[in-house]
Amino acid sequence: MQLPNLKEAKKRTREEVPVEEYKIPDHLKTFGKGKTYFIKTYGCQMNEHDSENMKAMLESMGYIEGDSMEQADLILLNTCAIRENAHNKVFGMVGRVKHLKETKEVVFGICGCMAQEEVVVEELLKKHKCIDLIFGTHNIHELPILLEKVRNSEKPIVEVKSIEGAIVENVPAKRDSNYKAWVNIMYGCDKFCTYCIVPYTRGKQRSRKPENILKEVRDLKQKGYLEVTLLGQNVNAYGKDLNMDYNMANLLKDVAEMGIPRIRFVTSHPWDFTDEMIDVIAKYENIMPYIHLPLQSGSSKILKLMGRRYTKESYLELFHKIKTKIPNASITTDIIVGFPGETEEDFEETLDVVRTCQYDSAFTFIFSPRKGTPAEKMKDEVHYREKERRLQELNALVNEYAKKANDKYLNKIVPVLVEGYSEKDSSMLMGYTDTMKLVNAKADPSNIGKIIDVKITDVKTWSMDGEISK
Ligand code: SF4
Repeated sequence: MQLPNLKEAKKRTREEVPVEEYKIPDHLKTFGKGKTYFIKTYGCQMNEHDSENMKAMLESMGYIEGDSMEQADLILLNTCAIRENAHNKVFGMVGRVKHLKETKEVVFGICGCMAQEEVVVEELLKKHKCIDLIFGTHNIHELPILLEKVRNSEKPIVEVKSIEGAIVENVPAKRDSNYKAWVNIMYGCDKFCTYCIVPYTRGKQRSRKPENILKEVRDLKQKGYLEVTLLGQNVNAYGKDLNMDYNMANLLKDVAEMGIPRIRFVTSHPWDFTDEMIDVIAKYENIMPYIHLPLQSGSSKILKLMGRRYTKESYLELFHKIKTKIPNASITTDIIVGFPGETEEDFEETLDVVRTCQYDSAFTFIFSPRKGTPAEKMKDEVHYREKERRLQELNALVNEYAKKANDKYLNKIVPVLVEGYSEKDSSMLMGYTDTMKLVNAKADPSNIGKIIDVKITDVKTWSMDGEISK
């Protein structure tokens, strides 16, 4: 049994990250025949895509995807460690599976970022005997072999590497959409922002080789995909760990020139956002004018405590540069309130930046200390009720600007990639604009899977309604 170790996670063990090819052993190709699986995914797009990979691996073993946990023979929780409430949700689910296991035979596994946290793994193993398998973010491609080990073992199997793993190519994916695809371009992060658990749970930054990324995008284009999202924890730093003169701007340009209609990328760290990148985004029409630019705080003092490497002033300079060169760009952000040491004045500075940037939308959170991070040990004197008040005030402002940003679309004709039926009204179709606005539109179902022009007829804070433009 190999337990994860936060100290080890901080070390880069080698300069060159090995690249391996995924291969399922022949004798495991029928291992899951006649059985169903159920995967519950928490957290970010990286986790969503990891689950797509695991689904494809399981199906290549003969498993079939089940509709519910209750009917599954194999249950996997793909977990998130970014905030306390994500943790709590997972512990709640563990309780549910425990009851289920009293009535039927189920293999139960936990993977994802929580599995990379030593304390969590220890607690899970001590208190929850219903768990058969725990594996980390670096071990996902080993799922078939791990399931075989579970079958042959009386004890739970724990496989969690603390050090950065190899980059594994050709891992299959059962994609959730036939039109949009995630493409990992890098794994891990080297930034070590003081509040963030990601560099420990996902390891140090490892970029995929450009030729492998371009090959994946080419395949997706041939299969008819209309949109790819280049995925990583800090995509702007792409290539910095490769021994070659090739960066995110080069990759964006090369992907754009392949001609796939829509290209997106998440997530950006402002510190690594270069002028060269802005120029490439401005130049290519198929790179979508949508940028997620996490602010986290508008106070330079708090940004320093967060280890973010930029100031309020340099962030605003970058923001204005983007808006000048890409005037139609919609920009969204992440903001943490109540970071240790945040005074009312610091919070006011955050509100000031929001008033200046007038974001299209923002994900806002109350600071949640993560075990083992430097911020966990920082003195935090602000009462939780006060943090809640700040969050409410911030949200009111964010909502005001989100509605204002959407108002500009009224009566305009916008391109929408139609993905399917609207969740709220099945007589409507839903999709996203180039600027990542959710649109519900009256249109014939034959438009699903196409990029169509939609006239916006009504505008709300978080979505818009429209009809097909004649
Ligand atoms: S850049 Fe993002 S993923 Fe990396 S440490 Fe900072 S917050 Fe975490």
